Amino acid sequence: MKFSQYDISAEIKNNLQRLGFKKPTDIQYKSIPSIMQGEDVLAVAQTGTGKTAAFAIPVIDRIHSSKSSRRSNGIKCLVLVPTRELAAQIGEVFNKLAKYTRVKSFALFGGVEQDAQIQKLQNGIDVLIATPGRLFDLVHQKALELRNIDTLILDEADRMLDLGFIDDIKSIKQILRRRRHQTLFFSATINPEIKKLAYSQVKSNAVRIQISPNDPVSKNVVHFVMFVEMDDKRFFLERFIKENPQRKIIAFVRTRVRAERVAKAMARCGIESVTLHGDKEQSLRSEVMQSFKKSEEGLLIATDVSARGIDIPDVRFVVNYDLPEVAENYVHRVGRTGRGLNKGIAISFCSAEERQRLEEIQGLLDKNIEVIKISKKGYSLTIDPTVETSPLQKLIDEAEILPRKKTKKKIKKPKKKGK
Ligand code: ADP
Ligand code: MG
Repeated sequence: MKFSQYDISAEIKNNLQRLGFKKPTDIQYKSIPSIMQGEDVLAVAQTGTGKTAAFAIPVIDRIHSSKSSRRSNGIKCLVLVPTRELAAQIGEVFNKLAKYTRVKSFALFGGVEQDAQIQKLQNGIDVLIATPGRLFDLVHQKALELRNIDTLILDEADRMLDLGFIDDIKSIKQILRRRRHQTLFFSATINPEIKKLAYSQVKSNAVRIQISPNDPVSKNVVHFVMFVEMDDKRFFLERFIKENPQRKIIAFVRTRVRAERVAKAMARCGIESVTLHGDKEQSLRSEVMQSFKKSEEGLLIATDVSARGIDIPDVRFVVNYDLPEVAENYVHRVGRTGRGLNKGIAISFCSAEERQRLEEIQGLLDKNIEVIKISKKGYSLTIDPTVETSPLQKLIDEAEILPRKKTKKKIKKPKKKGK
């Protein structure tokens, strides 16, 4: 089935064609018709498989083809997301997909001036993409009216239902209780406990869609683990980056402090990087994200704030410099590569202290992650001969993870540079 065969407005169809979206992905194919019919939907599909357009296309189409005037009705669709970067990104996707329609969308998040946001809302917005904090600030200030929402969407729904956000969601549902409305949950991971909570927030006949339930990691990502000493991680990262110049790489670390520390260690050996974490001012966070999205190469060192949902084009490698504390975040982190039609590679550095975390991740994946064996001589990365014949080998060769020439010399510790 092609998008051209869908019963959606020509303005949207032609635009999809222009954007190179010919065929729907699995999740789009399965969820768009149900959403168009007004059903509640609980959808789980791997990272990078086009979940955003799966909910954006039918929502834009409905608002575009409806007769009612925007100004008198207020916000018609609310998309709740866990991070500011994700709000901004989904806002961009809506803008892009709705370019030739009359649908207006806006991304609302904290860390920036409120006044301009309030002004924007007063001009009339159909689709609001928001983080809960700023959303409720404005609701309490009566700068925002949620009463007329037809569609409530939770992206990264398991995260949104986790911890503090459930009460916010319940209060929105309370506002909408008398209104016929639709609730859509999208995520790449969902554990049984959160699933129960999700069911409690949708109609009993909600449509449940799960793509590849047995393998939460996208099939476009090949992923490995390397057993290393904690203190050696920085040398491996240095080596890895020097062996893969002109590549876009994201390295995930455990804490904000560590992100800065690793960036400094990389700078000492001549590797430039940018960092992204919650301690940074929002304007800087946006700047880093925008420029990394546009760049063709480089290293981003990030905490889990960038693990979910972020769609950065052409990220070739994800390095788990530290293993994530929450097993689900492994799936999200490695899912920053291998998006859309691209292939990607993820490597995790696992120290003895992190073995338990690795066990938990493998428990979640229900399989062992392939191990890259390390020859201590010169820290060259050699592949375990037992995986030599696996199709992974070809990808590794293509990806140039292995040094072309094996170095005999031991890599020297980086010299201090006055930078
Ligand atoms: P997810 O939310 O499932 O992780 P995204 O919605 O961020 O994934 O989409 C991942 C990438 O796939 C984006 O860059 C998007 O432009 C691209 N994409 C989505 N749908 C299609 C499609 N039908 N055809 C081609 N590319 C698509
Ligand atoms: Mg997404």
